[in-house]
Amino acid sequence: MTRLKINNLVKTFGDGEKTITAVENLSLDIQDGEFLIVVGPSGCGKSTTLRSIAGLESPDSGSILLGDDELTEEPPQQRPVAMVFQSYALYPHMTVRENMAFGLRHSTDCEKTEIDRRVTETAEMLDIPELLDRQPTELSGGQQQRVALGRAIVREPEAFLLDEPLANLDAKLRAQMRIELQKLHSELGVTTIYVTHDQTEAMTMADRIAIMNDGQLQQIGTPLECYHKPANRFVAGFIGEPSMNFLEVEKRGDSLAGHGFDLSVSKKVLDAAGTKQKLTLGVRPELINVEQGAVTDSDGIDAVVDVVEPIGKETNIYMTIVDSDLEFMATIDGRKNIDQGERVIAHIPEEAIHLFDADTGDALI
Ligand code: ATP
Repeated sequence: MTRLKINNLVKTFGDGEKTITAVENLSLDIQDGEFLIVVGPSGCGKSTTLRSIAGLESPDSGSILLGDDELTEEPPQQRPVAMVFQSYALYPHMTVRENMAFGLRHSTDCEKTEIDRRVTETAEMLDIPELLDRQPTELSGGQQQRVALGRAIVREPEAFLLDEPLANLDAKLRAQMRIELQKLHSELGVTTIYVTHDQTEAMTMADRIAIMNDGQLQQIGTPLECYHKPANRFVAGFIGEPSMNFLEVEKRGDSLAGHGFDLSVSKKVLDAAGTKQKLTLGVRPELINVEQGAVTDSDGIDAVVDVVEPIGKETNIYMTIVDSDLEFMATIDGRKNIDQGERVIAHIPEEAIHLFDADTGDALI
């Protein structure tokens, strides 16, 4: 079937001292029909990976296989994949119908009646039949985006390659398109690789997420695996909104101590830390319990509230640890009233503790 395999892909740009390694030894195994989202910050090598699969970049080394077919040396038009670009890349002088038919007309021996049938069917699927005779300049961003998708769908490819397809849409339309893309995916069942820097898109849409940084794969797993069991500090900070808090700590007796706080923890946590001295404690804002009042409590962190950010259902509380300049934040129930300047105690439940090696960033628990 159309399982897509990327083996040890390397792609550099430039030469000599100016060499940039855009993708470093990347291997991915994408299941037939899977929706894989490649996510990471700007410049981490996501687009280069996708463009290599499409044949728009030639890798320095490594291989790309679709089913049993090796694609690595195939020219782009010979590859049974269809790419959708962030910019949509529609031909401005052609109608929507001509744009959607273009790929079929030029790279296959598809009959005209078959092309017409596929264009009409796809336009109906995307709810755009009334746009077929318009020019791209007469369309909104969201409509252009559908046409770009339509152009990929009519080709009936074995894999879709989507490069930040929602980046140019406003927040509301983006949220709506996330749902529509998921529906389309379950309807078509075609293997899809989707690139984005937006962790919300990755969390909400993907079967699995591949997280990249600096050209390297950091972790691959289901959204919830990556959220609950991040492989390292980078993944922990990238996945989840608002981001995980990180506090530098060391082992002191039965506790993890940082500047201005001391948390007693179980043997399990202490054992995970092993003999490492420099540790980073990670805790997600939504798992911190914030208690009002200034009673010192050995199991909590004394803090002062700097900023209160109500967002409706929840409120973000930004705090500084008393006797320290360390800052962290918590997300609490929006019905709770906490004021700026108030003293609070932040409790970190043991099961919410992540621990990282401060030198390597690797997760220890
Ligand atoms: P973004 O989210 O900003 O699109 P990305 O994760 O998709 O980023 P890539 O576009 O793959 O990242 O780029 C990875 C690295 O390779 C970057 O440092 C980029 O500057 C570099 N790069 C990409 N294309 C070229 C090119 N044609 N020539 C030189 N360097 C390039």
